[in-house]
Amino acid sequence: MGVFEALGGEFEEVVFFHDRPSNLRAIVAIHSTALGPALGGTRFYPYASEEEALHDVLRLARGMTYKAAAAGLDLGGGKAVIIGDPRRIKTEELLRAYGRFIDTLQGRYITAEDVGTSGEDMDVVRRETRSVTGVSPSMGGSGDPSPVTAYGVFQGLVACAEEVWKDSSLAGKRVAVQGVGKVGYHLVKLLTEAGASVVAADVDVDAVARAVREFGVETAEPDKIHAEECDVFAPCALGGIIRDDTIPSLKCRVVGGSANNQLESPEHGAVLRELGILYAPDYVINAGGLINVADELRGYDRERAMGRVVAIYRTLREVFAISRDEDVPTSEAADRFALARIERITRLRRHWVPGRSTAGPRAVW
Ligand code: NAD
Repeated sequence: MGVFEALGGEFEEVVFFHDRPSNLRAIVAIHSTALGPALGGTRFYPYASEEEALHDVLRLARGMTYKAAAAGLDLGGGKAVIIGDPRRIKTEELLRAYGRFIDTLQGRYITAEDVGTSGEDMDVVRRETRSVTGVSPSMGGSGDPSPVTAYGVFQGLVACAEEVWKDSSLAGKRVAVQGVGKVGYHLVKLLTEAGASVVAADVDVDAVARAVREFGVETAEPDKIHAEECDVFAPCALGGIIRDDTIPSLKCRVVGGSANNQLESPEHGAVLRELGILYAPDYVINAGGLINVADELRGYDRERAMGRVVAIYRTLREVFAISRDEDVPTSEAADRFALARIERITRLRRHWVPGRSTAGPRAVW
């Protein structure tokens, strides 16, 4: 497939960077800057082909537009990939070459860490450009986003409880948590503090042992956790857990967790709805990490970031209302919610007339 064909007329800008001495081959995709600079992480991965890398960066950049819009941020959607095995080719020279390239985009794209890159890598990138977030706390960064993400997921589950049980309390609810890593651990803490009973599973036995020791959770086998008799199933491990072979075993009323791409394919959102299972769209409920890192652009303040994460509760309430009113799966309702916000803000900026409104035309970052 040709590059222009792959873009499908949907992307603002796609840039290919090559620095031969450092072996850097990177692609930055800016999907939309309608709401603000396009923020999204840099994935460093040994793609089998350039076509595969391009496909991935386009898919991920598009997703970031929806995620930032639904999170209420003044940010657009973008993403970057660096082609290669980070364990073999990642060097200071490569990261700084990458930072210099990012800088040429003059703030239209802001990067962050992702699979294959770390906060320390972002510190190196920061030496060449200001268009980077997720740097170390000592450099003004926001640090580990996981507690903030978990808090956002918890707020989202409160919205789910209101929708399903007409009661915001999670006390007495049984929650099956798949994956008690960085986010899952903090989510279990919040759930048990709220009086929920938790059954947890993880392929890492030490992670499970810690959750048992610290929170007294029950445990389940990793390949059976989705089939637990429970009120809420919270996927906090890998993507693709909601699929043809797992859906028939679900015994929950709510699916809501931090994992990205929980639905193996978009149709699974409709299947959950038919079964009467409320799905909290992943990119809405797990936006805490993005909200956290975006706060760095104002000079990071964890209290403020935590405060903004509460918006996930309100957003999900609105998404559920769209799903009810327009008779569509919540996954589709989330996309409609995000697109409607982009359209509203775009219109407002187009029609803003100086002197006629007290509101400024642009948010200032
Ligand atoms: P993590 O690697 O710290 O934790 C994931 C845990 O899942 C690990 O303990 C791992 O052993 C476990 N796991 C892997 N496969 C499993 C399986 N088949 N069954 C049960 N457990 C399994 O990652 P994390 O940062 O906690 O992120 C969890 C998910 O949330 C990921 O999908 C991530 O993309 C997403 N997410 C994370 C953040 C964040 O702030 N960290 C933000 C948004 C989305």
